Amino acid sequence: MEHLFFSPTEQAMAIESNAAFLAEVHDRDWSASLASNQDLMPHIAPTTPWLGFDHQRERDKEWIPIQRDLNQYPVVRGWTILQAWDRGDLRKAHPSLRDPTLSPCDVGERVASMIQSWLYFGLIEAIVGDWVDVSYLARPDSSGRMLLYSRNLVYLMYAWLRRLQELTAESRAIALHNAHANLMTVATCIQKLLAWSDPGTAEEQWTRSNFPGYIERIYEVTPAVIRLTDAIGATRDRIAGESGIRVFAIAGLAEAYLDRNARLRARGWCPFLIACCLHDMNDSVIDWLDAAQRANPTGRHDECTHAACTANNVDVARYQMQHCTADCTCHPIRPNVDDVIRAIENDTIPTVRLTKTASGIKLQTEATCRADDEFVVFSHVWADGLGSTAEKGIYECQALRLAEIAEEAKPGCPWWIDSLMVPERSPYRYMAIRKLRDVYTNATKVVVIDKSLSQVRNDDTAEIVLWSIVSSSWAQRLWTFQESFLPTYIDILFKDGLRSFEPAALPRSLLPPVIQVVWRILYDRVGALRPNRAQQLTRRTNLGEILAAMNWRTTSRRSDETLAAAALLDFDPWSLPEDEQDSEGRMERLLLLVSDLPDDIIFFTCPKLRRKPFRWAPATLMARSPTMVDISHDHQRAKCTAEGLLTRQRFLEFADSQMGQDGLQYWFRDPETLEIYGVYWDPETKNNPGMFNAVVVRPIEDDQYVQPEMNQVVEGVALFLGAEGGDLGEDVSQAAYIGRVTIFQGDENDVPEGTAFIMTSWKTEMLCIT
Ligand SMILES: [Zn+2]
Ligand SMILES: [Zn+2]
Repeated sequence: MEHLFFSPTEQAMAIESNAAFLAEVHDRDWSASLASNQDLMPHIAPTTPWLGFDHQRERDKEWIPIQRDLNQYPVVRGWTILQAWDRGDLRKAHPSLRDPTLSPCDVGERVASMIQSWLYFGLIEAIVGDWVDVSYLARPDSSGRMLLYSRNLVYLMYAWLRRLQELTAESRAIALHNAHANLMTVATCIQKLLAWSDPGTAEEQWTRSNFPGYIERIYEVTPAVIRLTDAIGATRDRIAGESGIRVFAIAGLAEAYLDRNARLRARGWCPFLIACCLHDMNDSVIDWLDAAQRANPTGRHDECTHAACTANNVDVARYQMQHCTADCTCHPIRPNVDDVIRAIENDTIPTVRLTKTASGIKLQTEATCRADDEFVVFSHVWADGLGSTAEKGIYECQALRLAEIAEEAKPGCPWWIDSLMVPERSPYRYMAIRKLRDVYTNATKVVVIDKSLSQVRNDDTAEIVLWSIVSSSWAQRLWTFQESFLPTYIDILFKDGLRSFEPAALPRSLLPPVIQVVWRILYDRVGALRPNRAQQLTRRTNLGEILAAMNWRTTSRRSDETLAAAALLDFDPWSLPEDEQDSEGRMERLLLLVSDLPDDIIFFTCPKLRRKPFRWAPATLMARSPTMVDISHDHQRAKCTAEGLLTRQRFLEFADSQMGQDGLQYWFRDPETLEIYGVYWDPETKNNPGMFNAVVVRPIEDDQYVQPEMNQVVEGVALFLGAEGGDLGEDVSQAAYIGRVTIFQGDENDVPEGTAFIMTSWKTEMLCIT
């Protein structure tokens, strides 16, 4: 993973990338630099061994053209790996493996080495269109062991980008599509590898007993492949920009990362945070964190699990405030609660000023009502010990500290913090919460205070600064999303002072642009906390953005999620059903109010609402969905109505309805194109069994869908078309939501003998999903 850390000099960058641009064969003789002890970037642990497949097989004698279609890499080398995978018998993958004197271990080793070469060197060749010799991206370590060495990837990516830029728009679009198709091929291979190595399955047991050592080898070699796809995807996205299909991150094999994740835990990172990152970020980011050996500066996550962070999730009943220093014994101080309540009743925002008198310090309440009244607002997490209510107040030491920070952020202004300005007593608490949108929107400046962020320095690297924000407790709480999204100006309190939190003010990576994988992902994540240009005036988000932002957030009070979402969408929270226990009713009402939903909302993986016509809808916004929905404003075209979700979708319609059940596979054939599709009901999706006669594929762009190509597996949603319903007009079909499935395109070899095909065909239609 050297490329995640490699920062060449400008001169080296110019010379090497130009050489890569002109070369047709990329190779490198490391012996000179190794012998002369030239200052060579060391391998970065954890390293990946090169298993020694004969990638360049007799290139001087036999002309093996570069395979721009990655699927062909094994084929031209005489391998039939896809067929072998379908039955799990690795000996069928190549004629040489049928030799009975070869041990099962050796067979596994050889197959793993081919897979490594195929998905690493085959992929990079298919992308750049040149020969890439093993020596270019691998070199021996000091003991002579050959290890992958991705330092030169930066030059290859630069050469590829430059060539793409020189192509005509039409050729470039073809090249980008080709890159996408090859990345999808890798994704499909990873799924195939998973099918034969997934712990606890019969397939895994079979593979382990027949080819010992093979699965471990696969775990060893795939993470580097995933990092390569991240680098290619990042470079591709730089040029595909807004118009093309964005590459989704390819998830590796979970088991391959157990050691890495254990190291991260040992360095104090919360398992829940790791789980969020695994789902929500490319593995390159987590690998970078591991290789950088960075420890969590605040620790305290020993009790957490991957399902929940107990350190950040405070127990309100047993909550204890904290002093600024452990040995402080000062007393709480509070504002005059009647003044606070009066301000709330008058529909104004209460603020305080700290005054020092001979008898001590006092908090003087002020009511801020005019739009031009200046005040500073604090955004914090309760886990840091600053939570309270107006009635209880906060410790004097904390009040003094807040007053000082407020003075630094905006001299002479009063300030607001929920711990002093939200009363406990009813109905004022709810009234104060209703005003939160106003508080954050009208604040002159919002200051973020968070224990882990206060360990960061302004001169830390860009990657560390951004990672610290992404991984902070502050970025993981439900309410802090609106606290970061609504304000006009935000400062974050770092160890050495306040730092402006605007995308333009965020630090830039020092790595070459083509390889800023980690920085780019973190920058996008941090940037999404602030409104983009289109949102700056209205400070309104769409539901896609809310789902993306809230997916991994947490709150101690579940009923707060619809309230927080209403504030972000600028709806009056009073328009939601008042009963806090009626979470289904509140969510239904919220979705009807929003009306415009992401085109792919039905693909959001989460518990669903139970009542018709909302069975497609998320029951919670903090769903921990591994799949994300479209956040762009142009793609919020599905309409939530009282009749159901009106949305245009592409789907396979079947001639006969099927009873969908966990673990079953269904086979379909299109009589016109003769294409064969398999639909699988994965038990992990926890669908209820149900009749279905159509499977929707995910929409991505106008008239573009993630439709499976040969040997590809994609997500699908099973529907039952023609369900009873009102008169929707001729152009709209009624469709009941049934569940999530996967859909695969294969050939006759994939289909078990004696299977009767069900006839099917593709359609694109307006549906009303209930
Ligand atoms: Zn935790
Ligand atoms: Zn104190």
